[in-house]
Amino acid sequence: YKTKGTYTPPVSQNTYPKVKNLNEDQRKRILVTGGAGFVGSHLVDQLMLQGHEVTVADNYFTGRRRNVQHWIGHPNFELLHHDVVEPLMIEVDQIYHLASPASPVKYMYNPVKTIKSNTIGTINVLGLAKRVKARVLFASTSEIYGDPEEHPQKETYWGHVNTIGPRACYDESKRVAETLMYAYSKRDHIDVRVARIFNTYGPRMHMYDGRVVSNFIVQTLNGHPLTVYAPGNQTRSFMYVSDLVSGLMKLMNSNYSLPCNLGNPEEHTILEFAQLVQDITGVKGKVSMKKSQQDDPHKRKPDITVAKTQLGWEPKVSLRDGILKTTAYFRKELGLVNNEQEQ
Ligand code: NAD
Ligand code: UDP
Ligand code: UDP
Repeated sequence: YKTKGTYTPPVSQNTYPKVKNLNEDQRKRILVTGGAGFVGSHLVDQLMLQGHEVTVADNYFTGRRRNVQHWIGHPNFELLHHDVVEPLMIEVDQIYHLASPASPVKYMYNPVKTIKSNTIGTINVLGLAKRVKARVLFASTSEIYGDPEEHPQKETYWGHVNTIGPRACYDESKRVAETLMYAYSKRDHIDVRVARIFNTYGPRMHMYDGRVVSNFIVQTLNGHPLTVYAPGNQTRSFMYVSDLVSGLMKLMNSNYSLPCNLGNPEEHTILEFAQLVQDITGVKGKVSMKKSQQDDPHKRKPDITVAKTQLGWEPKVSLRDGILKTTAYFRKELGLVNNEQEQ
């Protein structure tokens, strides 16, 4: 096996955030694949704070050790440098399966690897779940709806995806992964959860992964024009990362096993969003219109009735608060980058 434990001694036990003391019967052993990434690391924080034992398996393609650095060496935490395309033999009670690049620039960088991560990777995770009888939650995506002909998107909508377009490596492999979840569930009686995640943003997003939120904030902070891809009237609905994490944990621990949308239904055109980022950050800048992207979905907005009724979940963080927190993070990161360049 390619699993390689990585260990950095803690600076001091006292520097860890304070975790709950759970009884043996309440404490779960939880695997988070992709746990060194943006969403995964925030999920790890909450699971650790709740007092669970958390193992992260990540190949650091788009994630980084720094996102979980504050837990390294903690007795409840383990970090594995592991690619989910390879088998993994560990003992766990629950698995959050997030390992996959998420931004279009990153998932198109090596489309075949993206497909392998979501297909072979999901088979391995399901094989592991079968052996140890763990419950698995898969991080699916609104992209499985493709360029939707139904609006807003309900879980019952089957989607509209170009199988050979530039986004297909991601959309179609996530679709197959969903199919695998239910095929294993049916054949091997595995307990599965499928979260269809809509655009999410927040601290620890990559600065340069090409997503619209990171691009607009970094461009604003650098005094550069905001790049809007034509036509600019395409829409997205943005969810703050803490809302997503609470939704993922509620879904995992619920009895609901069908796919469930997790997203913020507040919808904006990208041009409006450029204006909003400028208003919220108080930095006025120009907008630079760029050519349109092939197969860019024209509109996207979740119908979250299922999450509301089945999980009692809905997003709480306003776009204003979320953008302010994310901007503060990027400001710090840019400072760090500049300092590193100066050294
Ligand atoms: P991210 O790129 O920050 O995190 C993904 C993590 O998976 C990274 O740490 C990366 O190194 C790791 N990874 C990738 N391929 C791997 C492999 N083969 N083996 C092991 N690790 C691997 O992205 P994110 O935004 O945190 O997304 C997390 C999950 O949520 C992904 O599955 C993504 O498809 C899904 N999702 C995210 C969004 C969003 O807006 N952020 C929307 C829909 C779905
Ligand atoms: N697998 C794994 N860890 C385990 C058990 C299985 O990574 O603890 C992998 C195994 O190597 C295989 C995949 O999961 O490639 C699917 O396993 P399964 O038992 O479902 O195999 P099947 O017989 O259904 O192909
Ligand atoms: N977009 C943009 N300018 C950018 C980056 C993205 O106008 O600098 C647009 C993109 O064309 C899409 C939307 O913003 O319509 C969201 O793009 P993102 O890559 O963040 O995520 P997607 O929802 O497309 O996966």
